[in-house]
Amino acid sequence: MQTDLVILGAGPAGLTAGLYASRARIPVVVIEKGLPGGQLTATETVDNYPGFSEAILGVELAQKMEAQARKFGVEIVQAEVKLVTPIDQGFSISTDEGKDFVGRGLILATGASPVKLGIPGELRLAGRGVSYCAVCDGPFFRHMEVAVVGGGDSAVEEACYLTRFASRVHLIHRRDELRAVKEIQERAFAEPKVSIHWNTLPVAVLGEKDVQGLRVRSTLDGSEEVLSVGGIFFYVGLHPNSDGFRNLVDTDERGFVITDSAMACSKPGVFAAGDIRSKILRQISTAVGDGATAAYSAQQYLEGLS
Ligand code: NAP
Repeated sequence: MQTDLVILGAGPAGLTAGLYASRARIPVVVIEKGLPGGQLTATETVDNYPGFSEAILGVELAQKMEAQARKFGVEIVQAEVKLVTPIDQGFSISTDEGKDFVGRGLILATGASPVKLGIPGELRLAGRGVSYCAVCDGPFFRHMEVAVVGGGDSAVEEACYLTRFASRVHLIHRRDELRAVKEIQERAFAEPKVSIHWNTLPVAVLGEKDVQGLRVRSTLDGSEEVLSVGGIFFYVGLHPNSDGFRNLVDTDERGFVITDSAMACSKPGVFAAGDIRSKILRQISTAVGDGATAAYSAQQYLEGLS
């Protein structure tokens, strides 16, 4: 299928780029391997997206963004992108569904995924007590003790969310100060079911068939203890979903795609938006801003071609 603009990823950045492109009457296709909404679909509630004075469910906000994009004519194709190749007419995109696309311009909006810490037992017990998504798996841990690893917005916010189900939530953080924004920190400090283990590193996930505990180590004196938890949620940062594009565009040392302020990448005709970008703040609000800018820049690029 030949079109003017292909957008990879239907999270907030990709859907916004699609919306803006479609309203500019640019023929556009958005390719998404999972559900439209990206990480929003794994977020319980969103309370920092302007316009919603009452917190909105992540899934609901995702559905609203998708519906708005579709209303303006954005076509969303469900497929996993396998290869992106520059060709004379632009870019050839092959997918696992055997459907191939050619776009004269391309927007990368495939986002980022939770980092795996790589401690013993973590990957072996993934899906059997180890999780990277509290919204998806939290209800499995009703009346159990769980651990959350990390000190950023995700870890602290999800630790609070898990108190709905768990009898106790152990928040394991390697420093003596949280990275999360103050408002989220205050919620955790006020939550009696959250116990914060400062200056503590996870060392090993214990259990044969499922998680039976987490071995942790003090960064101050090296002492170790075992927390008897049935679930462990890792939130130790994000890894960019840019593996397929590193030969196409420049990335930073962590693999996030480098753009200029117009969202243009090092390869002419390629733009990037949202969490995949190398930038200082990864939020829904910054993703939608990137998406709008990327679509505008892609429009100018396409007009320059014709
Ligand atoms: P993050 O901000 O990168 O935080 C990762 C946390 O994991 C940090 O506290 C870090 O510790 C810890 N960590 C990293 N490597 C570790 C290791 N090897 N061992 C132990 N701990 C380790 O990641 P995030 O919380 O997933 O957030 C990602 C982005 O999404 C951020 O930009 C965030 O603002 C945004 N976000 C926003 C919201 C919201 O606005 N409500 C919600 C979720 C996410 P240190 O602090 O010591 O480095």
